[in-house]
Amino acid sequence: MPHLWTGLGLIMDYPLIRKLNSEMTCLECGKVFYGRPDKKFCCQQCKNRSNHRRGSLMYNRHFALMSALDANYKILEGLLASNATAISMDELKRLGFNTFVVTGHRRADHHEQYFCYDVSYFQTPGKIFGITRQHRELPLSENP
Ligand SMILES: [Zn+2]
Repeated sequence: MPHLWTGLGLIMDYPLIRKLNSEMTCLECGKVFYGRPDKKFCCQQCKNRSNHRRGSLMYNRHFALMSALDANYKILEGLLASNATAISMDELKRLGFNTFVVTGHRRADHHEQYFCYDVSYFQTPGKIFGITRQHRELPLSENP
């Protein structure tokens, strides 16, 4: 049996130490390394790189969603400003409306009601109608 204190290589070969330090594959670079069973990355640089990429993906998804909601809201605001309460789906899509992003949904009577912040509308395959602002004044502050 190798002596424990003759060098790091021998320590790593000692069966008990080897058991505590499992063979792992780095989730970032794919390199095989030895470490605690819960360790995911071979080094701090790989851990940082992975966290950065995950943060960027989340930011990009969030930004795309918020942009689509903002665009929908502007379209609905424009319709409300011109007193339009209904519009065909073709025209809506031509304006750039994205029917897949909403801030809320509920089944109301026999229609599907969708919300884009404080504006609601009913949707059928051919049109949206009943475009309405839910609240005239939003409580934008806890202390008005
Ligand atoms: Zn790595």
